[in-house]
Amino acid sequence: MTIPQIVERAEALGIDQYIITDHYENVSDRGLKRFFISNPEEHMAQLRAHGLPTGLEFGWDTKTPINYPVEAYDFVLLSFHDLRRNEFGGSIHYESYLEDVWNGINAFHHYTVLAHLDLPRRYIQDNIPFQKKYYPFFEQIFKKLIEEGKGIELNCSTIRQYGQPNPDRDIIELYFRCGGKVLTLGSDAHQIEDIGKDLLKGLAILKEIGFQYLTVYENGEYVFKPI
Ligand SMILES: [Zn+2]
Repeated sequence: MTIPQIVERAEALGIDQYIITDHYENVSDRGLKRFFISNPEEHMAQLRAHGLPTGLEFGWDTKTPINYPVEAYDFVLLSFHDLRRNEFGGSIHYESYLEDVWNGINAFHHYTVLAHLDLPRRYIQDNIPFQKKYYPFFEQIFKKLIEEGKGIELNCSTIRQYGQPNPDRDIIELYFRCGGKVLTLGSDAHQIEDIGKDLLKGLAILKEIGFQYLTVYENGEYVFKPI
């Protein structure tokens, strides 16, 4: 999927504000390194040539030193994809994932929103939600985000997978109750057909909860746009 193809599709769908966020994985796990922007300057120049803000999905394992120009991007989705750690025999642990998120946001600050916050659900059998016992942990994460003027992404790709966005409705509601305001909407499209998919469903969920704004990037700054 090339940038011109994405632009053409987004325009055809009438999506007038969007940011393309290709992956860069700053990790030591070789398996995760398949998503890679090899030349960030060239990539950003291409985005700007289309009049788009420069976006990045920056994956981190919280340990590998960062030698990538993350701060040069206008919009950064911060994500933690390293879900199967050797010390746990390769299985997915919700708690260790949350520890990664917490350690990550305490050590790194050049991001705009946290991507797909309850990510492990995608990869576990029956897509089991995070139990309520983890909610204080989410609250702690939200408090930190709000303090730093950052937010979360409502990732709509799992609506097509198991009927709930990432993070799910209960966690988004928790973010709302914590006073969270910075919010972006993403389709996590890895193929043309998925561009913009289920964004309206995600938007409907946000409205039902009581959110009134989405955060968009306009003329070099972030603004709240009524929904
Ligand atoms: Zn991701």
